[in-house]
Amino acid sequence: MPLPKWPPAISPSQLEELRLIATTYALSHGLLYLPPGQQQPPAPSSAIHAPFALFPSPFPRTLFTHAQDLQQIYNVLYARVASDTEFLDRVLSAETAVGRVDEFVGTLWKIWKEVRSEGLVQPLQLGIFRSDYLLHEDGDGMDIKQVEFNTISASFGGLSQAVDGLHRYLMASTGYYSCSPILKESNVPPNNTLAEIVSGLAQAHKAYLQSKLNSASNQGHPAQILFVTQPNERNVFDQRPLEYELLNTYNIRVIRRTFEELATQAHIQDSTRVLLVDTSTSPDPVEVSVVYFRAGYTPVDYPTSTHFDTRKTLERSAAIKCPSLALQLAGSKKVQAVLSRPGVVETFILSDRWAAISQDNPHSFTGEDVDGLRRSWMEMYGLEEEGAIEKARKDAQELVLKPQREGGGNNVYKGHIPEFLDGLSEKEREAWIAMALIKVPKGVENTLVRSGSEPVRANVVCELGIFGWALFGYESDPSTDGKKLKLEEGSGGYLLRTKGEDSDEGGVATGFSVLDSVILV
Ligand code: ADP
Ligand code: MG
Ligand code: MG
Repeated sequence: MPLPKWPPAISPSQLEELRLIATTYALSHGLLYLPPGQQQPPAPSSAIHAPFALFPSPFPRTLFTHAQDLQQIYNVLYARVASDTEFLDRVLSAETAVGRVDEFVGTLWKIWKEVRSEGLVQPLQLGIFRSDYLLHEDGDGMDIKQVEFNTISASFGGLSQAVDGLHRYLMASTGYYSCSPILKESNVPPNNTLAEIVSGLAQAHKAYLQSKLNSASNQGHPAQILFVTQPNERNVFDQRPLEYELLNTYNIRVIRRTFEELATQAHIQDSTRVLLVDTSTSPDPVEVSVVYFRAGYTPVDYPTSTHFDTRKTLERSAAIKCPSLALQLAGSKKVQAVLSRPGVVETFILSDRWAAISQDNPHSFTGEDVDGLRRSWMEMYGLEEEGAIEKARKDAQELVLKPQREGGGNNVYKGHIPEFLDGLSEKEREAWIAMALIKVPKGVENTLVRSGSEPVRANVVCELGIFGWALFGYESDPSTDGKKLKLEEGSGGYLLRTKGEDSDEGGVATGFSVLDSVILV
């Protein structure tokens, strides 16, 4: 089914009214950013509204449901990949694979190797995931195709729910002036991202406390969750709501620290490796149950070797890491490409080895599930593969090249590819993947509202992200003396980021995209 002509026509005075009540709603309901260029401390004292789309954007109902349905299998897939040390070593190690040529990946991998050689004290890992998709249209009709699978610092749990609230409010308060019959409540799916992400964090916290009951050490104070954040973070109105929800719903307290602060304030107890963080507000340090990283995904977050040392301290500790280094590495673009090779994803989804070692919930899947996964992928290959460079040159106009990086702004597109390949040494090829460009259906417009400038009407591309989580790890099984993989997971909530059609990259914080929600058609 083609997407409807969008947005529907409204008069200039209706537009002006919508804008006024929308920006006021945004400012009243935490759909906010801190202004750029401000140092913290001191504590911030003003905010600007986050960029948003004035209308929800049309998205095919069946494909939205399909993306939601895929999430469970993705949760399980990435939990199993992160549990497969041998696989990750083969794909990413600093000795023989990507880590050799990509210094950042290599350093993370080496820290992971050192920590596992010493012996892990915390078997569990937590992943908070976001699987991103674009609509794709070719001769076979319309479908969703995965852009990437994020395993670290997946953001917009808080703000995606806030923009859902904004569009519901505009609908309820103005009916969008009856400008379109599809703009109605029954076409708006629920968005419960916050509750879902927080339930993952709370499950991990509970599991940590449970494991402590079985061990001797106890600090006497309730353990807290540590949010590791970037200095001068502007996206606090996305992050803080997780803290409010943890406190209100689960009575779990949170401390926030940068790597820099943790370098002097984080300590590990000798025997138990319990993670303790000093505070200026209490004589006793805080015991940490879960380390939730909203920093650490880019080399920029590690300006000195001390920052990597701090990451290692956290990794060595008995706290549950969200994500562990293994899980962060599992989310690399290289792993995404390797999984798409013939037969590889099958070893994680269909192979009997998982059924044999899984605790209680075997999460069994069928060949049909694998077909569904594969159908959500574009063609991907490593630039080190035979004939890859020639193929990439030939197909450049329909291709994006990606390094092993997160956070936007790192990819090379279409016309820039040949020149980029000219400058890429043979050794460096292994650190890059090529991915066929997703062919997004054209013709959808929206009105984009950004703080400090006039609304812009533009042709847009919408990227859908589905959230999920998994708490997993090998625990010993007294009945068999073997090790069993414990795995709990959940999914729910979504993010829609909408960008002008002419921009190759997305990214809300980087200014390309705005926050949006779906209207199902
Ligand atoms: P990052 O981890 O930096 O977010 P992504 O793989 O998500 O990297 O790429 C950044 C952006 O580039 C995406 O949000 C999307 O807009 C665009 N992009 C990435 N891969 C494709 C693709 N195969 N086809 C079209 N656009 C893509
Ligand atoms: Mg992305
Ligand atoms: Mg990413």
